[in-house]
Amino acid sequence: MRRRDVAALGFAAFGLPASAMEASFSVDSERFIEALWQLDPDAAVAAGRFEFPNRLTPPGAAQRQRRRAFLKEWLPRFDGLPAASLSPSDRMDATMLGAKIRSDLWRLDTLREWAWNPAEHNPAGPIDVILNTDWAPEQQRVKALHARIRQLPAFYTEARKSLSGVTREHTELALQQAPGVLAVLDDVESRAQQLGLGSLMRTDLQAARHAVAGWQAHLSQLLPSARRSFRLGAALYEPKFQHDIQSARSARETYELALQRREEVLASMQAQAEALWPTVVGSEPPPADRFARIGRVIARLSERHVARERFVDEIRAQIPQLEAWIRQHDLLTLDPTKPLVVRETPEYQRGVAGAGIEAPGPYRPQDRTYYNVTPLDGLSAEAAESLLREYNHWILQILNIHEAIPGHYTQLVYANRAPSKVKALFGNGAMVEGWAVYGERMMIESGYGAQNGEGAEMTLMWGKWHLRSVTNTILDYSVHVLGMGEKDALDLLTRQAFQTEREAAEKWRRVQLTSVQLTSYFSGYSEIFALREALKAQSGFSLKAFHEQFLSYGSAPVRLIAAEMLKA
Ligand code: ZN
Ligand code: ZN
Repeated sequence: MRRRDVAALGFAAFGLPASAMEASFSVDSERFIEALWQLDPDAAVAAGRFEFPNRLTPPGAAQRQRRRAFLKEWLPRFDGLPAASLSPSDRMDATMLGAKIRSDLWRLDTLREWAWNPAEHNPAGPIDVILNTDWAPEQQRVKALHARIRQLPAFYTEARKSLSGVTREHTELALQQAPGVLAVLDDVESRAQQLGLGSLMRTDLQAARHAVAGWQAHLSQLLPSARRSFRLGAALYEPKFQHDIQSARSARETYELALQRREEVLASMQAQAEALWPTVVGSEPPPADRFARIGRVIARLSERHVARERFVDEIRAQIPQLEAWIRQHDLLTLDPTKPLVVRETPEYQRGVAGAGIEAPGPYRPQDRTYYNVTPLDGLSAEAAESLLREYNHWILQILNIHEAIPGHYTQLVYANRAPSKVKALFGNGAMVEGWAVYGERMMIESGYGAQNGEGAEMTLMWGKWHLRSVTNTILDYSVHVLGMGEKDALDLLTRQAFQTEREAAEKWRRVQLTSVQLTSYFSGYSEIFALREALKAQSGFSLKAFHEQFLSYGSAPVRLIAAEMLKA
């Protein structure tokens, strides 16, 4: 991937009239991205660009006006392009850039989350990344942070002025996150002291901490009169779904499809549970209620899990087994030169227990991709047991399928082979999550699990896991559009989807603080699955060729990939 010298571009791309920009599409998209980093240094840092780590942008009306003008200036460059003159990849990129700009404008002027969600104004993330990423010598990183921290009082002043009509839930979240801001300031200070810069920064760190305290006091004052509902409501939900998911279906249609899918999955789980009952539970007669019957078998099977100290080693051991399965069953080509490295999650990144892929992003091609797994050391015996039952013998394998092979990691390797900065930076979350969810189903269809004589157990456990994606969509739409309350939500998750109380409580919290993202798993999956079934009906269909062609387009919305693949 070619890299540009941003300093040379300066602000020139900014004020240039559109008519003067007669360069090709790829030059335009490159210029747009570079100009975006200048406008939004925090987004630059998140993308792995460190030209302006010292600049903190106050989130006020002036910045919103700059952003609005910038987006409106660029939109026509990507909207009216003659599609036929572009390659399929550029055509997708142009559509994605137009969609991104329209989405940003909609968020700015219609969703207006900057006014009602105080947690939008959290400076901790970029400080943490600038401090802990090896983009420059430590001395330089701390000096850049010094300049950034000096701007924190102005940042919080503008953030306070931006707020109006906040929700209680997001205000409480921002209050919960404020100590985290103080913690990263402590990290910066201790690093500064080690480098002998401590006394130089003391006054500015003091002022920054004071600004955080002022922010906390302001939020506490707003809390008693916080009236806005955390529920998005139909009027905002449907357009947000269109902007974020970019599905061919509406949110309503996706919700209805999820209800239908839920019935299919439950019927299949019931059949598995019935077959397994005598050997897994015993001679006791099964309860009449289908949820109780399925739940009993799942609870019994969950007792089989690795010892807590074997958690990371077991995941490490499974990766080559998954790779071998993919090769033996000819499901898709894996790149043998890119083996996945499983490692313990670095200390500073450990928040919640779990596992996930850490990819370097388009600006750090020299960095490795890791599969980070957090060991269970820090947990109480009870918490570790609960987590191990959740990630039991079967689910742990499905987790590895989802996160690694052929899920997120494999998709990433393919996406990196077709370099498109647009898709790497502004990739479609529903395609990415949908692929991982599709991959789980595809592995089960190939007979994975049955090789150990445990086909029924594996299929039942996959059903529980798959039901989680389906239920996420039902929950999100029900809560944000249909007004579902906490009691019904928790019942949907625990009794009707076999989740632990801890998992359900976390999900209830997440659905109050986010919207639409929870639908991405099922939405993406259902579109990929429908595309495969449509192509399967054509002569000469090969599963392997389908997978490889689908992944070759990179992280574009499934709708756009489907348009290309159905054209042929
Ligand atoms: Zn146990
Ligand atoms: Zn995922």
